[in-house]
Amino acid sequence: MATLKDELTQRTEQFDHWATRRRYGPDGPNNRRLWVLACMDERLPVDEALGIRVDTPVGGGDAHCFRNAGGIVTEDAIRSAMLTCNFFGTREIVIVQHTQCGMLSANAKDLEAALRDKGVDPDNLTLDPTLPELKLDKGGFAKWIGMMDDVDVTCMKTVETFRNHPLIPKDVTVSGWVWEVETRRLRAPTQEAEARARTDVTSGQFGVKDKQPGRWS
Ligand SMILES: [Zn+2]
Repeated sequence: MATLKDELTQRTEQFDHWATRRRYGPDGPNNRRLWVLACMDERLPVDEALGIRVDTPVGGGDAHCFRNAGGIVTEDAIRSAMLTCNFFGTREIVIVQHTQCGMLSANAKDLEAALRDKGVDPDNLTLDPTLPELKLDKGGFAKWIGMMDDVDVTCMKTVETFRNHPLIPKDVTVSGWVWEVETRRLRAPTQEAEARARTDVTSGQFGVKDKQPGRWS
């Protein structure tokens, strides 16, 4: 059996290739040819949840990892997945969302109203100053925030969206998972009450009364 010293020696020696492998395009993929989309929440430990090492300081790394609020589809998530799947040799997409997500904790309309109170006009915004072409129609802002009614439903719809997106090659494997903050375990998204018991998975459990602006269901 190799000692850790042997492994570290090998990995550090491979570092030069690892550091420059983006130059090799599809011939220089990450170790698992994997792209991970995950919520940015610090209670979601991506490496532990998936049993991988996204990156290491001594060369090698299992995945490209994209994190945003909720771990949901956004145009930038699509952009990043498109690049890694089409040009950097990625063959698999894994999506991880989680129970008790902050994206369940308020209604998007209330967040929009709070921003208006701060003097922001969500109907007249340049979302990305470097890309003014990217615009939301009037009334689209609350949908854009992406608050969820149900994390399992959102996770399943996120998988579906990546599977069907024209920028994602059809032979890329796509799966979605829910990390249970309460039990520190990963499970498949489900609508079965028993599997969801003792975990917070709906906005109703956070006292949100109204359905979110239509995006996920
Ligand atoms: Zn979250």
